[in-house]
Amino acid sequence: MNKNMIYRCLPDGKSLLEDPLLCPVVEKYGRESVKEVIHLELDKLRSQIKSLPEEEEFLFCRDELIRTVTETAEKRNSPRMKMVINGTGTILHTNLGRAPIGEKYLTNAAKAVTHYSNLEFDLETGKRGERYSHFEELLCRITGAEAAMAVNNNASAVLLILSALAKGGEVLVSRGELVEIGGKFRVPDVMEQSGAILREVGTTNKTHPEDYERALGENTKAIMKVHTSNYRILGFTCSVEVEELAPMASKRGIPLIEDLGSGAFIDFSRYGLTKEPLVQEAIKKGADIVCFSGDKLFGGPQAGILLGKKEYITKIKAHPLTRALRIDKFTAAVMEQVLLEYLNEDTAIQNIPVLHMITAPKEEIKSRADKLIMLLKQKNFPAKFQITESYAQFGGGSLPLEQIPSYAVTIRCGNIPPSLLGKRLRSLPVPVIPRITEDRILLDMRTVWEDQTELIVSELEAGHVFE
Ligand SMILES: *Cc1c(COP(=O)(O)O)cnc(C)c1O
Repeated sequence: MNKNMIYRCLPDGKSLLEDPLLCPVVEKYGRESVKEVIHLELDKLRSQIKSLPEEEEFLFCRDELIRTVTETAEKRNSPRMKMVINGTGTILHTNLGRAPIGEKYLTNAAKAVTHYSNLEFDLETGKRGERYSHFEELLCRITGAEAAMAVNNNASAVLLILSALAKGGEVLVSRGELVEIGGKFRVPDVMEQSGAILREVGTTNKTHPEDYERALGENTKAIMKVHTSNYRILGFTCSVEVEELAPMASKRGIPLIEDLGSGAFIDFSRYGLTKEPLVQEAIKKGADIVCFSGDKLFGGPQAGILLGKKEYITKIKAHPLTRALRIDKFTAAVMEQVLLEYLNEDTAIQNIPVLHMITAPKEEIKSRADKLIMLLKQKNFPAKFQITESYAQFGGGSLPLEQIPSYAVTIRCGNIPPSLLGKRLRSLPVPVIPRITEDRILLDMRTVWEDQTELIVSELEAGHVFE
């Protein structure tokens, strides 16, 4: 067939748009939107025809085109951001949204967000209130701080603190703490943005109190400690603790700032893991301002939580950047919900997803792996499934060396290479993100939830993953 004749077989856009088969699609997504998709698909067909070798047959099928238009229209009108199943064993996986938020907190917060709320309204006086007021007292009660607030994330918290308290002056930081956290958060760069001048003290592996003493001068506006979240210097090391720095700072009337990074409220050594620096301890030891992420070990919404001495927090609240970095009502509402949970550690570790994944006993993970294996074996998939011991990680730059004992389900399938299998899992309606090694893929069951095991199996079946 001659190419011009093939082109002529194609329907025109208008007739397609009027096709009764596309009627429901037009009704659902709107005329303009479907028209655009039709033109897009017709263009695709035309370029397919164009690249066809001369005299090649081309069978046009109207029903197939209509099916493609329907699918594309549906895809274009569906949200792209969606739930995934995390089989990587990395609990705070930054690429997978870091801390999942307990559904209960969102449900409880929904009313305040979907209606008008007292976000910045004092119900007692009828006057303007503060958006932090709802959770400030809770934060203070839990940590012993005098005052608290929150901004967009911890990087902005650091920027704000330094801008408000140290602009134009020097800030002392140990050379062992000039870290890059990932995602381009580098302590020296943030410092520069804030207008504060970095004064490095000590060496990479060792910093002594005298190093700080010597560097303190007329123009010193603050001393800052940064938790080296994502790496450890081991061996011949020495750093100066908050207890030693606090009197040095207060003697000169300057703030001691501590960027805790993750900032845990719960001592994980009670659960057989390494203890992360606790927020309440940093305050107790004399840090004047402490900041940490809301969506790392705290297990809440993305935020940078700042707390400490009232004098400093008041100054920070009044800084113009505060307005630019402020949290929204979703965050404020969810933050309060999560903090209420922290009033009781036992329920907190059960209900806050991040804490539950971290502290769940190994046996619980094992029984989840057993359940998944049992469900998989019932289906007679042409694949091999096994349980193996594995290690889960904190991730998100927390406790880099900590390995949390876990169990994984390994999957091997004849001649489907692991990378292809991984790709298929990622393209399921609820994508499953596995850990991929050279000869198999693994689903670490510490980050796969109990109610996801059945979903995984039904998806594997419906998606013909092993065929
Ligand atoms: C993670 C981290 C940050 C950045 O926090 P975000 O909430 O991701 O902005 C800053 N400082 C330290 C020490 C961190 O660990």
